Amino acid sequence: MKMIGLIGGMSWESSVEYYRILNRGVRDRLGPSVSARCLLWSFDFSEIEQLQHSNDWVGLGQRLADAARHLEAAGADALLICTNTMHRVADDVEQAVSIPLLHIADPTAARIRAEGYRRVGLLGTAFTMEQDFYTGRLRERHGLDVLVPDAPDREAVHRIIYDELVAGRLEPASRAVFREVIGRLITAGAEAVILGCTEIMLLVRPEDSAVPLFDTTEIHAEAAIAVALDQDQNRVSS
Ligand code: GLU
Repeated sequence: MKMIGLIGGMSWESSVEYYRILNRGVRDRLGPSVSARCLLWSFDFSEIEQLQHSNDWVGLGQRLADAARHLEAAGADALLICTNTMHRVADDVEQAVSIPLLHIADPTAARIRAEGYRRVGLLGTAFTMEQDFYTGRLRERHGLDVLVPDAPDREAVHRIIYDELVAGRLEPASRAVFREVIGRLITAGAEAVILGCTEIMLLVRPEDSAVPLFDTTEIHAEAAIAVALDQDQNRVSS
């Protein structure tokens, strides 16, 4: 089994989910006592958040590249950045190491295309919804037609993520806000919606949407399992 390096803590509320999905997935495939080989680099999110909101993407790139180098040195065979937003500095991470980075947008888009959807709504931080690093990749590499909420809805979603979800607060009123925002994306033509922030799955459930939801946390962690088990095809499952 390959060693997966997780660049996490952004926030730890979602890193826990990555850890759980990875381990459960490996156990389900290989047997009750089998668990994932992985390394977790967990940032203090308050530092990351501050740099994000002061637009210091150079400093953030350096920090994530540094984490990536440490994980490679510690034996990681592949890397995941356990947040959509921080894929803004995915190039810095890729350039810092010689092991592959599994970009969160790629397995997400692949699954959407495999299920036959093309016009998707995107929910995430303002960085993810508004900057080209994420929507551009979905559009240009994967041919998706990406819809984002209007400005007030983007602001509401961003605020809920930073004020509540990363702090472990799950508020029914905020879940209702998500339901409304998803409804407006559907009215605008979305055939499916990407939960493009790794904490949204803590609050929003499939029943909150009339169209399929694509949860990036689950899809990304599942993709890591496939990478981890690549060399394990012959191991017998119980
Ligand atoms: N985990 C979130 C994401 O997937 C937001 C926190 C962050 O800014 O990294 O974008």
